[in-house]
Amino acid sequence: MGLETGIVGLPNVGKSTLFNLLCAQQVLSENYPFCTIKPNIGVVPVPDERLTQLKDCINPQQTIPTSISFVDIAGLVKGASKGEGLGNQCLANIREVDAIVHVVRCFEDDSVIHVAGSVDPVFDQQVINEELRLADLNTLSKKEAKLARLAKVGKKEAITEYKLVQIVQAQLRNSIDARALTLTEDEATWVNSWQLLTYKPMIYLANVDEATLQGQHNPHLAALQQSLPADTTQIIPVCIALEAEIMRFPPEERQEYLAAYQLTDTSLSQLIAATYKLLGLITYFTAGPKEVHAWTIPQGTLAPQAAGVIHSDFEKGFIKAEIITLPDYLTYQTEDNCRKAGKITIAGKNYVVQDGDIIHFHHHI
Ligand code: GDP
Repeated sequence: MGLETGIVGLPNVGKSTLFNLLCAQQVLSENYPFCTIKPNIGVVPVPDERLTQLKDCINPQQTIPTSISFVDIAGLVKGASKGEGLGNQCLANIREVDAIVHVVRCFEDDSVIHVAGSVDPVFDQQVINEELRLADLNTLSKKEAKLARLAKVGKKEAITEYKLVQIVQAQLRNSIDARALTLTEDEATWVNSWQLLTYKPMIYLANVDEATLQGQHNPHLAALQQSLPADTTQIIPVCIALEAEIMRFPPEERQEYLAAYQLTDTSLSQLIAATYKLLGLITYFTAGPKEVHAWTIPQGTLAPQAAGVIHSDFEKGFIKAEIITLPDYLTYQTEDNCRKAGKITIAGKNYVVQDGDIIHFHHHI
């Protein structure tokens, strides 16, 4: 069902407010299909300026953005790995997502109770990450037992995997998440297949107050930043309450309010950009008078596999791809005009699709 992102964090840090905010932005601002599949799952169209430009240029019957699902995962508390809170259910929910947004409270507000008594984002993130590591250790101990049996009867692959399990277990016990490990390509394939929670990409969303957005020093945010490895962690500061307020205004007025707080991007755009970057995803487009459509693929995807995202027959019967760049399309307005101007590149099965390519695939039926 496309890209899925889970929102986690201790109770009362602003997860549900963020979830409602992310879903509401699109419902109100764009006439794209939107749905809340379950109360805690929302599918949000990915805002993309390039798609809007193509739509305005072609005026097609339909415009279809790619989508991203957000899942509000409640119930992750200290002891979740032992079944506390919504323990097993919420860990199972996290197992299914592609990326995790970890909301950490960095705002003071006496009227919002903190589960541990005081605002302490370093402690909070440690509680959540420790539960995820404990859940991974549970997963690995089952795996270890199974592999030990296979290793005993001489299964060579099992012996290699068994050793790797033990290495990862040792790291987790040292409070190092699986995603922080340096792995060979083969090892990464194994670890990926184990579906560990701490191997999933994680983005931190620091829920700050308005003053922080206006440049005032926020000791909670600074402490959070210091507690996480700077080179591998992405922290996005957002004032969820303020953005939720701004979303109450009509779409045409929102930009002005956002600008008043030096906000160029909404939290939705920031989260999507960060998720795409972390997961190495790019977007290509198909465009014509009937439909302008955005498609998400991993970086490095070859043309036939990119075509396969539209339909598996396109991949099987792939002949060639005709590529137009967005600036050329916007200049010449139609595929035919681009052809006449010599602005179409013919690409074969070894072409690596680039972010923003506008592609017409040719295939056998
Ligand atoms: P959850 O338990 O993590 O889902 O938290 P909620 O989204 O339900 O929020 C808990 C409480 O914190 C609610 O009363 C929210 O209105 C409030 N809250 C959420 N974000 C902010 C914020 O940025 N600033 C302030 N002051 N309150 C917030």
